Amino acid sequence: MSAMHTQNSSSRQAWTPESWRSFPVRQVPAYPDQDALRAVEERLRRYPPLVFAGEARRLKASLAEASRGKAFVLQGGACAESFGEFTADIVRDTFRVLLQMAVVLTFGAKVPVIKIGRMAGQYAKPRSSETETIGGTSLPSYRGDIINGPDFTPAARIPDPVRMETGYFQSAGVMNLLRAFAGGGYANLHEVHRWNLGFVERSPLAQRYGVLAERIDETLAFMAACGMTGARQMDETEFYTSHEALLLPYEQALTRIDSTSGEWYDCSAHFVWIGDRTRQPDGAHVEFLRGVRNPIGIKVGPSTTIDDLERLLDILNPQDEAGRISLISRMGAEGVGRHLPPLLRKVMASGRTVTWLCDPMHGNTISTVNKIKTRSFEAILAEIRGFFDVFQAEGAHPGGVHVEMTGQDVTECVGGAHRLTEADLGERYETFCDPRLNAEQSLEMAFLLAEELTT
Ligand code: PEP
Ligand code: MN
Repeated sequence: MSAMHTQNSSSRQAWTPESWRSFPVRQVPAYPDQDALRAVEERLRRYPPLVFAGEARRLKASLAEASRGKAFVLQGGACAESFGEFTADIVRDTFRVLLQMAVVLTFGAKVPVIKIGRMAGQYAKPRSSETETIGGTSLPSYRGDIINGPDFTPAARIPDPVRMETGYFQSAGVMNLLRAFAGGGYANLHEVHRWNLGFVERSPLAQRYGVLAERIDETLAFMAACGMTGARQMDETEFYTSHEALLLPYEQALTRIDSTSGEWYDCSAHFVWIGDRTRQPDGAHVEFLRGVRNPIGIKVGPSTTIDDLERLLDILNPQDEAGRISLISRMGAEGVGRHLPPLLRKVMASGRTVTWLCDPMHGNTISTVNKIKTRSFEAILAEIRGFFDVFQAEGAHPGGVHVEMTGQDVTECVGGAHRLTEADLGERYETFCDPRLNAEQSLEMAFLLAEELTT
């Protein structure tokens, strides 16, 4: 750690939940009605927390394990949840696919899989452009349902603070269902495996995936024969929530002092991350996350410099606490082999503890000739493979993956065993933001990844 960097973090003023307000802030809207904003913030500050500090601490301890190769992270969910898709079926289906993927990955990686949903609060979106133009008309960009509406009308695009309150209540509803699913028998291992067998049966690559499924089958039968039925580990699972900590007035209002430790936690989710567009070391988002004790993520893209990364780690994790920082690499299939190694080497040389995740989605977004945003399954897989290769070459532990997926049968990413083509995209293209892997593509990814991890 250089003297300059040490000074950088210690020369800051004392942190408070609102100290971010005196730093330059990007991507947070200017609300036209400041009185309405204050009233919503005031109400949110009094509402119950959505998660508890003890849960966030437990996740942090698990992420510390992942940094040492003793656990593997599966973080997944929609690019953006939408207020209109607030149904039990949609929550259940995404949860179910994540569990299915986790079983396969547990078998492949031979370590516990830490399950984190991009769920119950992933409502705010950073945008590359301030405005959206259609047919000569320009309007402010849609920034996620917690900020404004997706309809292409001037009224819908005005930031409305009451949406924060809706976001809070919907997060509470989703969280409640996730807690019930995770602890109420739905996560039974045999059941999850049976769903996977159904997937394998339907897949054009049934033979290939069948090999792994059969091995899992045998293992489960063996465990049952040993009397390991009815054990808590077979019936329940731990499931955590996460979202990008983008809308700072909302995050601040949900930030509370933990009565056990006396420390601040952002109780809107267990894990929150800083996006590629808001990770400036001297910016408001970094200042805010500096003071909450949750485990946090930092997106690391091709434009991340070694100097920025060092400064971020100094500011956000001065004590080098294991599990505190997950670096989420999103370099693109083409860029991962070039951009990741220098950063990884530097972090390793500095002796810092971080958990490295691979986001194979955000560096691989392309537009079709009809201007539809898509990603190819092959590029996504290529980035994951490239990521693993880099870690193997450097003798480091890859900590896990971060994906945009859904339990629905959408047609948003091309490729996969069912060979979705650009012509198929119109069929069920439902995302309000980035294209997601559908249920089958997500499971395929897990099977291919597990193959990789076992060999
Ligand atoms: C995202 O995760 O949806 C996102 C916008 O990613 P990034 O900040 O890496 O571009
Ligand atoms: Mn996205």
